[in-house]
Amino acid sequence: MPQTEDIRAVLLFPVGSDGLFRDTGSYDEVKEEHIRQTFFQMFQYTDPWCGNPRIYDPDGNYDCGECNKFVEGGLCLAVEGPISAEHGSCRHWENKDAGDSELKFARKITKDMADYGETPKAGFGCHRCEYHVNAKAEDSQGRAMFCKQGAFHVFSNACCALNDTPGMKTKFSEATIKSHGYDWKEA
Ligand code: SF4
Ligand code: SF4
Repeated sequence: MPQTEDIRAVLLFPVGSDGLFRDTGSYDEVKEEHIRQTFFQMFQYTDPWCGNPRIYDPDGNYDCGECNKFVEGGLCLAVEGPISAEHGSCRHWENKDAGDSELKFARKITKDMADYGETPKAGFGCHRCEYHVNAKAEDSQGRAMFCKQGAFHVFSNACCALNDTPGMKTKFSEATIKSHGYDWKEA
């Protein structure tokens, strides 16, 4: 028989006038870590104490040019169409590693599938994301920012797939991709 009754708790946190979570200055680090792990699983959040070290950028930029899947000339092994080495990134960013061979995808995934975006800034990271505020107090690991999307402390050089900055471009037309003369053999 399917279990239809609720068996799990739903965490509630104070929300501000902008509809996002509010930094009250009163923290429960155990609950925060649970949410942080959820953000790792759902949105690839990572910092020096949480997540996957391969997807953490100590410089806090996460740009395509520093990703293991980047191809010189502005292409990606996994994501279709032209990408920007300096201003682009997606949820599949990972650091360069000679010990990690990559797959030459026969058919690449779309920019939408990858949550690819281009920021007008010099990179990404929580410190550039419009959802961060400086926390009223650091947590025990020295995380000094608070994420209004997740109600937990973040490290300034961390990042996640929800990263957003004013002027971020996230829609790319088929025409743009085709005008590049996209051919999987290029990459
Ligand atoms: S589009 Fe994503 S996977 Fe490709 S180079 Fe950029 S960050 Fe890496
Ligand atoms: S501040 Fe932005 S990039 Fe950092 S975890 Fe929150 S939504 Fe993601």
